[in-house]
Formats: sequence, C-alpha cells, structure tokens
Amino acid sequence: MLKDKVALVTGSTSGIGLGIAQELAKAGAHIVLNGLGDAGEIERVRAEMAAIQQVQVIYVPADLSQPDQAAEMVHAAGRALGRVDILVNNAGIQFVAPVEEFPAAKWHQILAINLSSNFFAMQAAIPGMKSRGWGRIINIASAHGLVGSPFKSAYVAAKHGVLGLTKVAALELAQTGITVNAVCPGYVRTPLVEGQITDQMKVHGLSREAVIRDVILGSQPNKRFVEVA
Ligand code: NAD
Repeated sequence: MLKDKVALVTGSTSGIGLGIAQELAKAGAHIVLNGLGDAGEIERVRAEMAAIQQVQVIYVPADLSQPDQAAEMVHAAGRALGRVDILVNNAGIQFVAPVEEFPAAKWHQILAINLSSNFFAMQAAIPGMKSRGWGRIINIASAHGLVGSPFKSAYVAAKHGVLGLTKVAALELAQTGITVNAVCPGYVRTPLVEGQITDQMKVHGLSREAVIRDVILGSQPNKRFVEVA
C-alpha cells in the first residue's frame, strides 16, 4: 500500500523519526529526511537507507524553528520527488525549568519546533494531497499532549496544541481522502530523553537512578522505556 508513496518525516536524523523513516522505506515509500546533525553522518544514513531499501531518499535541511522553512521544506520535497503523500511531523525538543525561570527564548523555540512547524508543514502539504484525493498526516505528540508534568511548561503546552491542531485538521479534511492523526508515546529511549535525565536531576535534586525510576518511568505502567527498534 505504501509502495512509491513519498513520505516526509521531520526530525528524522535521530530517534523516533529515524525509526519511522526506516520503517516507511522498508514498506516501499520514498523518503524525505529532515533534521539537524553532522552532515557526513546524515549522508551516510541517507545513502544506506536508499541502497538497502531500494527507494529514493533525499535530505532537506530545514531548520524548523523558522516558520517559513517548514513550508519551503515541503515545497523542496515536492520539487525533488514530485509530491508529498505522507507527512510525519515528528521534530521536537525539550527543556525543563520552573515556569518562573523558563527562558523566553526556549519557550519560543519549543513552540516553533514542536507546534508551529506542524501547522506550516501541513498548510503546505494539504493542497497537493487534496488534488490527488489521498494523504496521511501523522503528528507525533506525546503523553504530554494529554497530561502535564512539572517543569515542562513549553513542551506540554505545545503537545496539547498539537492534539488540538490535529483534531481541527482531521475534521476539515474528513471528506477529502486525507487522514490526520496524532500519536502520544510514553517515554522512548532516544537522545531527547537521555538529555532530559541530567536536566531533571538538577531541577528535582535527585540521583540519575531516582530520576529514571520515580520521574521518568513513575507513571509509565510497565516501568520500561519504549525502544525505537
Ligand atoms: P531526538 O532528539 O532523538 O530527535 C529529534 C529530532 O528532531 C532530531 O532529528 C533533531 O535533529 C530534530 N530537530 C530538533 N530541532 C530541529 C529543528 N530546529 N529543525 C529540524 N529538526 C529539528 O528525539 P525523539 O525522542 O526521537 O523525539 C521525536 C519526537 O517524539 C519529538 O516530537 C518528541 O517530543 C516526541 N516524543 C518523544 C518521546 C520520548 O520519550 N523520546 C515521548 C513522546 C514524544
């Protein structure tokens, strides 16, 4: 079903996004990678995915903290591979601090990457999907789109926003052949979570083991990280 579809996965140079891109390539979709990272390593991943899965794989280096780059990324993907059939809005960052100490620049950056980029990428991708009568939009929200945790004001606000945006777009597009869904993972072992452990140790004043057991996995019912693969 996915053979020769074109899938754009934001934030696919690492973690969950890379895992999603790999699975879509395995299913026969052509892939547009996006995300930050070392240019040589990104090219190695791109070339390996293309060679092993025998699909086209390109990389579009948009910085999604800049709203205009999200739309330009979709247009660049369309110019290179003809269209975007599947859009996975996955890029995201985290920062932990109490509300009263939360830096304004971090608030704006998290809202831009974790929420606004989803909106602007969808806005650019929907017209082509509509004209073909088929599209899939998957927004990677979080359990923090459903519940709150202390010290994560920007992240939790952005992820709640992603769920709202997803619901509105799903209703608007319900009769067009385009589905819009959000996924709300619990804790997945990726660089984003690894980085958080140290930050959480500082704000909670806890050891690494205590942060993993009581803060990170505290409300994860099976007390295990989800693994990407
Ligand atoms: P990760 O740090 O491994 O990957 C994040 C990706 O986003 C990377 O490719 C990075 O380069 C990209 N990115 C960051 N800033 C960017 C920017 N300005 N422009 C373009 N790309 C940018 O993190 P992950 O854990 O794989 O997270 C992926 C998504 O899943 C995020 O939206 C995150 O909020 C969500 N999520 C993660 C978990 C978890 O436990 N890891 C749980 C729920 C939701």
